[in-house]
Amino acid sequence: MAEIAIRNVAKTYGKTTIMEGVNLTIRNGEFVVILGPSGCGKSTLLRLIAGLEEITAGEIAIAGQVVNDLEPRERGCAMVFQNYALYPHMTVAENIGYALKVAGVPRAERQARVAATATSVGLSDFLDRKPGQLSGGQRQRVAMARAIIREPKVFLFDEPLSNLDAKLRVQMRHEIRRIHTQIKATSVFVTHDQHEGMTLADRLVVMNKGTIEQVGTPDEIYDRP
Ligand code: ADP
Ligand code: ADP
Repeated sequence: MAEIAIRNVAKTYGKTTIMEGVNLTIRNGEFVVILGPSGCGKSTLLRLIAGLEEITAGEIAIAGQVVNDLEPRERGCAMVFQNYALYPHMTVAENIGYALKVAGVPRAERQARVAATATSVGLSDFLDRKPGQLSGGQRQRVAMARAIIREPKVFLFDEPLSNLDAKLRVQMRHEIRRIHTQIKATSVFVTHDQHEGMTLADRLVVMNKGTIEQVGTPDEIYDRP
């Protein structure tokens, strides 16, 4: 069970309050998309859940546990960014397996899990390449595989598809939904692209100027016939 409860959360940088009174419960297994214009606070909300930013007021609970004082690695979240953040000197296999290596997982088990994860995102033929020898879509898959292999309870996506061309974006959306279901994660996906949000989300959260304006299914929010 990895419900995410966001209770009366505020975020201040210096004297500037950029987020206030944010309340949202994301259900276990749900795929929620946070939608809104650039600068409205989407990425900050994601970073607060991940623990990459400190919360100014309120609390966030993951799977029933308040995480305000937990380190990012203690929160059971994996985050996928727009700029893949891969290690350029490592091969695809090493990139995917790195978190397991750091965690002290034995080599044979690492190899098996790297191979299985790479297969699940269609990278099994590219294990020995370096990121510089991959296309944008393949690099994004490596970033996904690196997150998936940790079997996170919570998947956080910060505009991961913005750098890809239109065709790849559609393909990767399907992959992301498939993986979300496969690993039974709770997913939060940030985008400013309304169409992307509508095609991905179980529920949409519309943000504006640091507050939540609307929450609902794509049909409820866009009143489609
Ligand atoms: P979005 O993801 O919706 O584009 P962000 O969460 O990145 O928005 O930013 C929300 C607001 O917070 C913006 O006005 C941005 O300038 C401000 N902000 C983000 N990070 C910082 C920071 N480290 N210091 C000061 N202001 C910041
Ligand atoms: P080390 O154990 O020192 O990290 P390796 O370079 O053999 O040595 O492995 C790096 C990581 O990539 C490990 O997690 C390993 O299990 C994985 N790995 C390397 N090559 C492959 C491959 N062809 N198939 C599956 N996993 C691989």
